[in-house]
Amino acid sequence: MNKADSERLAAGFEQMGLSSIDDPAEADVVILNTCVVRQSAEDTATGMLGKLKRVKHRHPERIIGVMGCMVGPVKTDLERRFPQVDVWAQPQQFEPILATVGSALGMDYEGCLENMIPAAPNIATFVPIIHGCDKFCTFCIIPYRRGREVSRSVSEVVEEVRLLVRRGVKEVTFLGQNVDSYGHDFSPQQDLADLLHSVHQVDGLERIRFLTSHPSDMSSRIIQAIADLPKVCELVNLPFQAGDDEVLERMRRGYTRAEYLEKIAEIRETIPGVAVTTDLIVGFSGETEDQFLRSMDVLEAVKFDKVHSAAYSVRPGTIASRQFPDDVTSDEKKRRLKVIAEFQDHVQTEINSGYQGREYEVLVDGHTRGRITGRTRTDKLVFVEGAESDSGRFVNVKIEGTTPYSLSGRVVEVEPAEAVTV
Ligand code: SF4
Repeated sequence: MNKADSERLAAGFEQMGLSSIDDPAEADVVILNTCVVRQSAEDTATGMLGKLKRVKHRHPERIIGVMGCMVGPVKTDLERRFPQVDVWAQPQQFEPILATVGSALGMDYEGCLENMIPAAPNIATFVPIIHGCDKFCTFCIIPYRRGREVSRSVSEVVEEVRLLVRRGVKEVTFLGQNVDSYGHDFSPQQDLADLLHSVHQVDGLERIRFLTSHPSDMSSRIIQAIADLPKVCELVNLPFQAGDDEVLERMRRGYTRAEYLEKIAEIRETIPGVAVTTDLIVGFSGETEDQFLRSMDVLEAVKFDKVHSAAYSVRPGTIASRQFPDDVTSDEKKRRLKVIAEFQDHVQTEINSGYQGREYEVLVDGHTRGRITGRTRTDKLVFVEGAESDSGRFVNVKIEGTTPYSLSGRVVEVEPAEAVTV
């Protein structure tokens, strides 16, 4: 979501005539787009602000801004701690930033707010469709920083996708903190399945993905839409966060282990060849060894294509920070993460080796050290010998090598190049 917000702000700056450079110490304007989902992310942002303080001291005319989840509704404390910052903006609040920059540089910014879509977007691009979250999981700071859920209308999203496709985009990933909750705030209600059906009709769009899902809100209608619509990729990211019901209740996740496993079974029965990934927290307050092993049982039972695991870290202001002690030691959290990583190495080795010798459609979106990189519909990273000019094309790749983290192979067919309207 932050990456999508940064791209949009950059598009606004481009329309104002600004261009980007690599070194923040040389820039006239530096905006940090911050994440505070874990303490380490917040530490990175505050460390960067320390460096920028020295730059601001030498060049007081330069503009420093901070946007994203570090900025809550009340900014007094931040303003006191970081006087070098000229402008603070909550997630998606682009106007104060553009206004500050516009007034400092003598530029009109208002017309730029209307259309903050990159002029030259990546071939595979993020599109936020719902902002905020209403779930209030006890460990999570997001609802306090991004506010309540607000969906963008179906027509607005479809129009944006049409424009992106005209600018060369072939794959969109719809984003939301809880993307399955999309449309519940409309009257009459619409849902993510309705949006998928509408966007599916956009000519020239080849692939649709979405994240992040919530097990309580991923309905049978949404699952069926993935199965029915050829452009929607066979990939579901469904965080389970903990495998033990008592821990899930303390997290206030709103489902049980059994309900989660039933949802996975429904997804696998409905969508042939689906890849399933998940998010998992270790060492949440009070998590015993037995409770951790219940999470391992879920990994064993499901065999995920990928697991994003993280050690629990207290976020001040959350329900957990007030009610539950952070009583699992840091060493123990690290050990549990290592157990998961070793287990997943085996699982992913087995899953990815199933790709060996078969052909897959890959959308090429990168080039590194003489090889092109792209993704299968199931989001497997694929390395292939190829030229940078293949970027942005679909290629059919025969897989000749696999690791737990990626595939490699050779191109057997390349999609012809086509004209792009900007
Ligand atoms: S659903 Fe996700 S974003 Fe919302 S509170 Fe829970 S963890 Fe945070």
